[in-house]
Amino acid sequence: MKVIVAGGGISGLASSWELMRLGHEVTLLEQDVQLGGKLQTMMVDSIRVELGPDSYLRRNASANELLNDLGLDEISPAAGRALLYTSTGTQPIPAGLNLGAPTQVHQALTNHLVPLSARLRAAAGVLRAHMRIEEGGDDLGAIVNNRFGRRWSDANIEPLVGGINANTIYGLSARTSAPAILAGKLPASPGGSMGPAFGTPSTGLSTLVAHLRSELEAGGCQIVTSSPVQSIERISPSNVAASTPTETYSGQRLLIALPSFKSASLLGPIFPEGLDLLRSIHYASVSMLIAYSKQPLPPHLAKISGVLVARDLGLMTTAVSIASNKWPDWTGRVGTLVRISTGSLYDRRHLRMNDAELRDTLLLETSQILGHQFDWAWDRTVRWNRSFPHFRPYHAKFIAELDARLLDRFHGDIALTGSYVNGSGIPTCIATARSRSRQLVS
Ligand SMILES: Cc1cc2nc3c(=O)[nH]c(=O)nc-3n(C[C@H](O)[C@H](O)[C@H](O)COP(=O)(O)OP(=O)(O)OC[C@H]3O[C@@H](n4cnc5c(N)ncnc54)[C@H](O)[C@@H]3O)c2cc1C
Repeated sequence: MKVIVAGGGISGLASSWELMRLGHEVTLLEQDVQLGGKLQTMMVDSIRVELGPDSYLRRNASANELLNDLGLDEISPAAGRALLYTSTGTQPIPAGLNLGAPTQVHQALTNHLVPLSARLRAAAGVLRAHMRIEEGGDDLGAIVNNRFGRRWSDANIEPLVGGINANTIYGLSARTSAPAILAGKLPASPGGSMGPAFGTPSTGLSTLVAHLRSELEAGGCQIVTSSPVQSIERISPSNVAASTPTETYSGQRLLIALPSFKSASLLGPIFPEGLDLLRSIHYASVSMLIAYSKQPLPPHLAKISGVLVARDLGLMTTAVSIASNKWPDWTGRVGTLVRISTGSLYDRRHLRMNDAELRDTLLLETSQILGHQFDWAWDRTVRWNRSFPHFRPYHAKFIAELDARLLDRFHGDIALTGSYVNGSGIPTCIATARSRSRQLVS
């Protein structure tokens, strides 16, 4: 079958890979000069610098399986200890919790981030054997408050899960954003429960993109970059077309691997009944400042992978990831590389600042958070506008409804994939893309 894939981020690449391996003829259309979407690695003085994601969770095996298939080496963080910056200074993030939720009574009772009354309240939650979904529907904040109490949730779960989603846990789908909390346990990592939680290609995420590209081209896939899809059409059953400014590509199936707002503008004219759904998915914008200093870190930060920032402090910084500690390819080098994150669905201050203002503010806050003044030798601001989808409660039902309307209209000739469908982590994007590709040609 001839299949057109619109969008060359990890979702479009994983879709193309799956379709090619199933023996289909694939044309991949990407608007940018390069593939990869949010996966972008740059080298600065032979230092690997990730501009977007820096790793993926290994507990969903889709990403490490893909690396294995491509023969790529994987590395895992060298430093695993993270801190939380609160009004009383930095404190270690308690180890062994399930995305901030306790799974054992002793974890609740020994937590140093909340007072004794909140610890006892959380311990009572652990003792209730199974979390009942009715406790808070699918709203993560309501569910964890009912179970562990608000003080616990705000101190332990909010900085982590809210941070990962550039959002707050209140009004966030538990099933889509934190299924491990609902399940009451983290799924085991490949390599057993003690296997590392995070992984990344040893030469950076762009290597994954480059390898996928060369394997796809070697397998006969047509990859067309600098070619934004501007319109799509279903000409007749099993005859779809996607047009770029210079050419129209036709095939029997079309997979749209774009953010929902881009999919909405392409599908709008031919799928009016799905437009309200696609348009109603909101995205958070985030920015990242990446800064490098030739100075080493002070001893108290020597084995720290990063610092999360408590929301109630009002700082713009949400997290400082210490890349030079985190990754083993830094071993033996002198210097400090940090990735400072800002912005969420509710904090849009960074959007009102120019790069210089944002840089100054984030570097000032970083000195305060790390308790150390640096001389920064190099920095770069990366803006990721509308990059984190907001998964509202019952998101999965909402996507099922969107799929049903799409099927009604296009009888299976056109399908959607991307980070807004089932979750935005790289492994989820890969798994979703692969299963939706199989469905499209089945
Ligand atoms: C700052 C940041 C940090 C993150 N950190 C992590 C992390 O540590 N771990 C993790 O697992 N996930 C992380 N994520 C999430 C993850 O990176 C994304 O969810 C994932 O990369 C999305 O991939 P995608 O292919 O669905 O979308 P995208 O990467 O957005 O790809 C979409 C592609 O479509 C192209 N396109 C757009 N319009 C058109 C058009 N009209 N025609 C053709 N092509 C078009 C774009 O140029 C792009 O290449 C992070 C995201 C951000 C922004």
